[in-house]
Amino acid sequence: MSEAHSAVIIIGSGSAGLTAALYASRANLAPLVFEGKEPGGQLTLTTSVDNFPGFPEGVEGPELMELMRKQAQRFGAVTKWETVFEVDLSKRPFQVRTTDDPSGDPTSGDVRTYTADSVIVATGASARWLGLEGPYKGNGVTTCATCDGALYKGKEIAVVGGGDSAVEEATFLTRFSPKVTLIHRRDDLRASKIMQDRLEKNPKIEYALNSVVEEILGEKDGNLSVLKGVRLRSTKDDSKRDLAISGLFLAIGHVPNSAIFKNQLAMTPEGYLLTRSALAWKDVEAPAGLLDSLPNYGTATNIEGVFACGDVVDTHYRQAITAAGSGCAAAMDCEKWLETQGE
Ligand code: NAP
Repeated sequence: MSEAHSAVIIIGSGSAGLTAALYASRANLAPLVFEGKEPGGQLTLTTSVDNFPGFPEGVEGPELMELMRKQAQRFGAVTKWETVFEVDLSKRPFQVRTTDDPSGDPTSGDVRTYTADSVIVATGASARWLGLEGPYKGNGVTTCATCDGALYKGKEIAVVGGGDSAVEEATFLTRFSPKVTLIHRRDDLRASKIMQDRLEKNPKIEYALNSVVEEILGEKDGNLSVLKGVRLRSTKDDSKRDLAISGLFLAIGHVPNSAIFKNQLAMTPEGYLLTRSALAWKDVEAPAGLLDSLPNYGTATNIEGVFACGDVVDTHYRQAITAAGSGCAAAMDCEKWLETQGE
């Protein structure tokens, strides 16, 4: 049974989803936004954001998302803390099923069914794990410095990764830790120069370059597994060494949250949704003829009436501001398309 019907359902509440909600609500479409497991998206897991225009002194990520949510709500967007676990995009109206269980588990919590004339997918991306965390996942090994940094006050820790996130997190973690080792598989960081410079000047930072984590080391304390260190392998000569740490922070990129759209929306082998704009990039693996078959909207997916924006699409920029921009485009495309349907 359908709980409610809307002109537009927006799935996701990061900067793409909430900007789409702002534009759709200002177009009087009263969008229904499902916030998902991480309301506010990746920016709620970060600290100061210095490159979002309009905030000359920077702004805390969670505060920025709260402001975006309030702005969309002011114009009539309805936000619900529910997670979409199933969609049926095979016919219109589209059908979306949600649970209000905070972990998104459909076997617990209230399950609801909604319908909509159009859907904007803004499900973003989630942190990648190494795959060898075992009992230390979320217990000594974490992907969120903002959430867990304070737990390691006075303790030596390490960060894995060489991008902006790793450098930003390592810098942030020196607020708590006397020694933060940055573990990176190459000797060249891909983080921006300005962030690398800041890191290099920080006396609490050490580097383990050309190194990968081969094993997480720990001990049992009763029923608890306690992380004691990591075994590193050199990518140059395969030599191994142990690094004693109390916590390991992963910042090794993200995977797009597109599993619920499998076999319905066209996507790359990595799971990035394919839109008309995404297909402008060279070397994007896509079914032959897809571009010609898509309606003439930049954020259109292979299903008419379904639009996608933000990090679930973006293989290139992945910035809060580009996600917000594409959320705006998706809402405008959606509004124009609804007009063609006489909605
Ligand atoms: P990223 O740029 O994709 O970097 C991921 C890092 O993890 C890379 O250094 C990569 O190594 C490494 N890596 C990937 N898989 C690995 C594995 N299995 N084992 C070990 N290392 C692995 O991701 P990100 O740092 O999260 O940044 C994503 C986007 O957000 C970027 O566009 C970035 O500019 C942006 N961002 C911006 C800011 C800011 O401006 N304040 C802050 C955070 C993020 P390789 O280098 O060898 O590939």
